[in-house]
Amino acid sequence: MKCPGCGAAIQFEDPKKPGYIPREVYERRLEEGREILCQRCFRMKHYGKLEPVEFNWDFKNQLKSYLGGFDVVVWVIDIFDFEGTYREDIAEILKGKRVIYAINKVDLLPRVVTVKEIKEWVKKRIRVHNPDDIRIVSAEKSFGLSSLVKYLSLLTDKALVVGVTNVGKSSLMNKICTHENTISPFPGTTLGILRRKVREANLYLYDTPGIMTNDRILDLLDSECQKRVLPREELSRKTFKPDNGRTIFMGGLCRFDIHFETEKNPIFLLFSSKEVTFHETKRERADELMRNRLGDLLIPPCSKTEFENFKWKREIFTLKEGEELAVAGLGWMSVRRGPFTVEVTVPDNVKLVVREALV
Ligand code: GDP
Repeated sequence: MKCPGCGAAIQFEDPKKPGYIPREVYERRLEEGREILCQRCFRMKHYGKLEPVEFNWDFKNQLKSYLGGFDVVVWVIDIFDFEGTYREDIAEILKGKRVIYAINKVDLLPRVVTVKEIKEWVKKRIRVHNPDDIRIVSAEKSFGLSSLVKYLSLLTDKALVVGVTNVGKSSLMNKICTHENTISPFPGTTLGILRRKVREANLYLYDTPGIMTNDRILDLLDSECQKRVLPREELSRKTFKPDNGRTIFMGGLCRFDIHFETEKNPIFLLFSSKEVTFHETKRERADELMRNRLGDLLIPPCSKTEFENFKWKREIFTLKEGEELAVAGLGWMSVRRGPFTVEVTVPDNVKLVVREALV
């Protein structure tokens, strides 16, 4: 028997795999003669929330198969984690489509950064057909949403919505759409996608499952810890003016060892969620802290974690004023006085990028 929503075979064993429904729920619905949707489709239809399941397909083929029927794609990107959420592999797949970039969570940035500045910064990072295709929004504060809807309505009456997990795609959809949710099975895919009507507009948005990544610090945390360290309000920031050979932790999974040959100490700021610990120490103490204090003094992780569980890498960068070093899924360092050398220690697959300053 197949789920009429997504077409996946109904199964009672694994909640993380497509087609799952608890056996007792299945039996009750059968008895009552009601529609039998898998748990994921049921929640999609009634709560408008797409839940990830364990995918064993590669997302590229899945995304490609969704694209066929659409000329316009809305790509939701998180300004707090631009490097982790704007991805070349997705850009490559979307080539040839009109992509509207919804740059979300701008409420997290310090107020001194204007919308115009954010847009200019993004414009340098993404090559767009029309600069207005970059939309600066905040789903949380309902900022820029009606203008996004207006813009989309002029282009099309249906658009596909894509994005990696945790960029705020569901939050954004919930703000602009009605509760009228239809699951559309898509040919060639194992999962259906959700069709949602935009309020007060002749426009339908088709929500796709959040694309999973594996190179953000966030990806290494359990879902409780993710919720805790995902920033909800303006980012916390702290200024450092370290002496030579000092170490600064941004949580327990990212460590900066600082070296410089200049007369004056370097100055930089760290930006991250309020829940992330910033901690400065002597280089000699750093190894011991990493071994014993992850998840306790140093958060994230959120619970006591063995140092040995992670495979680490070290990368060395020389940074100067006006540059930032972004750590995907965690935050960034923004240089006010340099140059200096920073040796970064993070789990092996975490993406590190030096960029022009956003803040
Ligand atoms: P999805 O996985 O892309 O669907 O992301 P969600 O909509 O579940 O959002 C992930 C997290 O980001 C949640 O904790 C949201 O509350 C938060 N979030 C979403 N949009 C915004 C926003 O505009 N600003 C802020 N500060 N947080 C947001």
